[in-house]
Amino acid sequence: MTAESALLDAALRAARDTHCLRVSNGARIEAAGVFASLFGGRTAAIIADENTFAAAGADVYDSLRAAGQPCLEPLILGPGIHAEMPLVERVEAYLEPAGAIGVAVGSGTINDLTKLASGRRQRPYLTVATAASMDGYTSFGASILHQGSKQTFPCPAPLGVVADLDVIQNAPEGMNASGYADLLAKCPAGADWIVADACGEEPINAAVWDTVQSRLRAWIADPAAVRRREPEALRRLVTGLMMTGFAMQAACSSRPASGADHQFSHLWDMQHHTYRGAAPSHGFKVGIGSLASLALYEAILDRGLDGLDIDAAVSRWPNAAENDHEIDALFPQAELAATARKESGAKYIDKARLRSELTALKEGWPSLRARLSKHLLSRAEAAQMLAEAGAPTDSAEIGISRARLKRSYLQAYHIRRRYTVLDLARQTGLMAELLDSLYPEEARA
Ligand SMILES: [Zn+2]
Repeated sequence: MTAESALLDAALRAARDTHCLRVSNGARIEAAGVFASLFGGRTAAIIADENTFAAAGADVYDSLRAAGQPCLEPLILGPGIHAEMPLVERVEAYLEPAGAIGVAVGSGTINDLTKLASGRRQRPYLTVATAASMDGYTSFGASILHQGSKQTFPCPAPLGVVADLDVIQNAPEGMNASGYADLLAKCPAGADWIVADACGEEPINAAVWDTVQSRLRAWIADPAAVRRREPEALRRLVTGLMMTGFAMQAACSSRPASGADHQFSHLWDMQHHTYRGAAPSHGFKVGIGSLASLALYEAILDRGLDGLDIDAAVSRWPNAAENDHEIDALFPQAELAATARKESGAKYIDKARLRSELTALKEGWPSLRARLSKHLLSRAEAAQMLAEAGAPTDSAEIGISRARLKRSYLQAYHIRRRYTVLDLARQTGLMAELLDSLYPEEARA
């Protein structure tokens, strides 16, 4: 057994919901065997869209029928579908008869729709992945548009996942690059957990950390091969994305996979950002968010915290009412301001707690600096890797101006209670200075 398969085995054992993962060339044909081993003679119910049905769904359907498995007529959604509540209800109604088991054949949207519909029916389901486009296949919870905003609804991850490398190799342009960017984001996300651990906000869980971080550099080492659709590079990418999902299942949290990098993306989702008529992919937004996060880390490491004036930082720290005023100024939309007040309020700390966290950071800075320097990619390295994979590296490529990006740091801090590099910059009182050093041309927000 290789080190990687041992790690994968351990991650599967620790995962809360998923019991089986099959990654291979031609795995779609094995889906019938996986289905029978997990669900016996229950009825299979394929959910796909026109493209994913053509790419894999038809073969899955044929192999299920050839194996004598009872099957509903497949539900083919689309075209141009979004992960939204009416479609969840449609999938739920489709799963109504006789305890049918959903077989999601697709990527993010199809998986999220089937995940929530199955969760609401309290039924397990199987996923057949058609692109290495994000890490959500094996994560718990589904991201669904509801009442005007993207919300994560708690629901179990699939009981089994089948990823066919032949299908993934032929995924539409940009999808695997998107997944590559989602995986690279685990580098700044890991740094956020290191800092949260160092200041006493959130201790690192070593087993979960290893699941994602111990092989991360190997998984993301060859972005050009991902772009060339080389099977071995795609296998590493799929493995990394699936492992990240297992880590989230084990942690019952997205902390192992998501830090400030994702907060930029969530912010732009909440602002309903579109570019050239469509929302940029999750991974492309997260890639730009990762570069923004890495740039801020670089600025902090350059400046250092040895000379941090803790008294000045504590005296500048806003009280709760001032924090709310800042949110109102940053978020003209009432709905967003309400979310920001709730999330930012949940992590608000008083001046005494701030002093104790800053003291821990300053005293521990030599070892924290060494740890971060060893862990982090530079912004330039990460940009090079994203470009080689075929992902955007300039925020303008996803329709975000530099001025908006600069302002997004201030907003992204407030929309989630998780401690990240944004909290580090804000709590030390250095955010404005650091952003001015990174974006000197752009006016201060
Ligand atoms: Zn992600």
